[in-house]
Amino acid sequence: MNYQEMTKILQDTLSLRWEPVAVRLLRPGEERPAGLTEPPLPLRHCQSISLARRGHCLFLPPRSHACPDGAGILGLTPMSEKLRSGELYLLFKKLPNLEIARKMISTRPEFPPGSFEATMLAPLGEALWEPDVVILTLWPEQAMWLCCAQTYACGERQVFKTSGFNSTCADLVIQPMKTGEMNISFGCYGVRASSEINDFELYFSIPISLLEPVCRSLVKLSQKSIPEERRKVYLPPVLDKVGSKRSETKDSRESKTVQIYIDEELCLGDGLCVAFCPSSVLELREEGGRQVARAIQPQLCSLCYTCVGQCPEKAIQISY
Ligand code: SF4
Ligand code: SF4
Repeated sequence: MNYQEMTKILQDTLSLRWEPVAVRLLRPGEERPAGLTEPPLPLRHCQSISLARRGHCLFLPPRSHACPDGAGILGLTPMSEKLRSGELYLLFKKLPNLEIARKMISTRPEFPPGSFEATMLAPLGEALWEPDVVILTLWPEQAMWLCCAQTYACGERQVFKTSGFNSTCADLVIQPMKTGEMNISFGCYGVRASSEINDFELYFSIPISLLEPVCRSLVKLSQKSIPEERRKVYLPPVLDKVGSKRSETKDSRESKTVQIYIDEELCLGDGLCVAFCPSSVLELREEGGRQVARAIQPQLCSLCYTCVGQCPEKAIQISY
């Protein structure tokens, strides 16, 4: 699968607003790839991500990095003592004392100075070089599906490490490069104050080794789960009822009867509702020479509306 194909999968399955951004750190001695432009003025690393997601292909050696913290963390330049000591965090009132500031600094992922010679960024579909990571700007629902895609591929729950400090350098580039795992970031003070990430957006970073398996999983998830979730198939009419007065039975322990109506004219007899019902309420019965779904144990119904959402013919109605 090439980068254009993976871009299309990410865009189509997640309905991305922004281009996925490929980021690579130029190794010492590695040649600068063609097709990248050095910006006319220094940019923060977070600002270069914003430009790349708009379609720019960028090359940023140390002189093009406006944020000395980011350039130091990314291993491009030595970090000044003032930044290294943590005292600036106190001046900005972002941390309470030097002890806490030093702890934050000593535990964040970094590369030693001189590890890399430049940052390179481009929309994933235009990258002519292998990215270290791919960064996506997402809203939470899209991030959820990326988590699901990785769990679909490996079965494991996702563990993220983030801090709200040094978002786009430490959390989105270095953490995934060092661990080989995806990471999330909600941005940081610098990102939120100087780039155009919206209040409802977050960042997600995928190391290149995981990108193809994640894309393959997204294709599978987009065949059923993603569109169903987006159609809110289990929502109506449950929420319509909330707010109306609950009718009490004489005995509060006694549950009210659920009425399950299945339109036998519409029913295809495919048994989807029977298969999906978690409480074995439904059964297929032979009637008039064909299979029809019937509620055989309505008293066990929990009102989850799964059968209503899964029925292709909208043949099921439930009242309570
Ligand atoms: S899912 Fe709908 S069409 Fe299929 S058996 Fe159930 S009621 Fe009939
Ligand atoms: S609402 Fe849920 S529990 Fe009730 S019949 Fe449908 S799938 Fe089963």
